[in-house]
Amino acid sequence: MFNEKKWDKELRNVMVKRGIQEYKMNAGLKYDEKLIKKLDKNLTGLSQEVLKNKVDRSLFLNCLDLSLSDKLGELNIEFYKNRNKVIKNKYCNWSSWRQFASNSKDPKLRKDVFDDFLKKSVKLKANVKKRTDIVVREYDKYNLNVVDSYCEQNFLSKNNLKRIINELNVKKQFNKEIEKFMQEKFNKPFEYYDDLYYVRNVLFDDFNIKNDPVKECTQVFKKMGFDLKKIKIDNKNRRNKTATACCFGIDPGKDVRIMYKKENGINDFSSVFHELGHAVHFDVMDNPLWWKRSFVPNSVAEVFSILTENIFFDKFFLNKYNLDINLLDKRRKLNEMYFLAFYVPNSLVKIEYWEGKIKFDEISSRYSELIKEYMGVDLNGNYWLLHHILPEEIIYCPSYIIASVRVFELINILKKKYGNEWWNNKESGNYLRELMRSGVDIDLGFSRLDTSYFRSVFDK
Ligand SMILES: [Zn+2]
Repeated sequence: MFNEKKWDKELRNVMVKRGIQEYKMNAGLKYDEKLIKKLDKNLTGLSQEVLKNKVDRSLFLNCLDLSLSDKLGELNIEFYKNRNKVIKNKYCNWSSWRQFASNSKDPKLRKDVFDDFLKKSVKLKANVKKRTDIVVREYDKYNLNVVDSYCEQNFLSKNNLKRIINELNVKKQFNKEIEKFMQEKFNKPFEYYDDLYYVRNVLFDDFNIKNDPVKECTQVFKKMGFDLKKIKIDNKNRRNKTATACCFGIDPGKDVRIMYKKENGINDFSSVFHELGHAVHFDVMDNPLWWKRSFVPNSVAEVFSILTENIFFDKFFLNKYNLDINLLDKRRKLNEMYFLAFYVPNSLVKIEYWEGKIKFDEISSRYSELIKEYMGVDLNGNYWLLHHILPEEIIYCPSYIIASVRVFELINILKKKYGNEWWNNKESGNYLRELMRSGVDIDLGFSRLDTSYFRSVFDK
């Protein structure tokens, strides 16, 4: 007989240790490779117990991915290590690339680094292919399809997933606005090497904001009755620290950490607000089963982070800073459009691959086609290997889009219930805590996956 409580306790024991190592790896700190390998073996063993017993559907699907820890673990470490060894030149390495791009005043140099990294990206391919093959074989074993399982885990139907992606094609608006912005600001056209991670910095570099994002965000949460005391924050610059801000819910309710690298004022604000949104979500979870606190699907986990990020961009909130709010709002809309113009093709290439419409070796060429179609630029399709999610995660990309749709539906409700400045209110905090605390068992009744609320951000 499968004893879920006992199993859950063992899982926690292993996952917490594993989470600490994962954290160290991303933070550019010393980690213990031997220990990781041992823990990954344990995780495979633990998840196989669930796969054999088929206890709970959601647990089963999560354990299917987790059961690959053993096989994928070593390859993941190899990928992490190799990336900074292979993707580097005298200007930066993969981890410091975004900081380099946002500080570089010379588009020609930025383009050279971009092209150089694209050439080198091919060396990452074999590792990604090996990992992908492992996933394919495992899902085949259970006669499951990655996209169907993803939808099931994320509480949506495949039709809804496709409808949403289809409804959020912003190509026309995006092309017009990005071209205008690049011409006005840099007197050059929008080109393939002006990637999202570069543009989102320059969109906001006209705005000067000196306040400390952690302090500001903490104040907001305090007003809603949240407590951030237990959350650890790392803003140090280490050479091998990952470029992306991230949050680790190592032991939800107990040990939650975030990390980020300073880029520029507004972006540090949005990154910190985003990651602290995740952190607070992990922090308030109290579902008695640990796996229900840890295995929250991405399209739900991202709801609370994107929600918090949106508090920062709300003009009622921005009022207290000395900023050109109208201009900031315009830039923010363009940022949202770029996000969609980029993440729609990112999502589509993953879906097409997992639905068997393209083979692994065709991903790059198809990606290039999709980027052309949705972003309007000729980009070497190997760029997907340089992205921080596409080569690492099985699917993930649509989660940001789905979560954004859910967020704007939620904001609509929060405004109706608690007014325009809903974050200035303990009651809204109570409402959010109630949503957050159960983890996987969240009540998504607030969302009908209606894209019109999200669209209204930039359709006006
Ligand atoms: Zn996030």
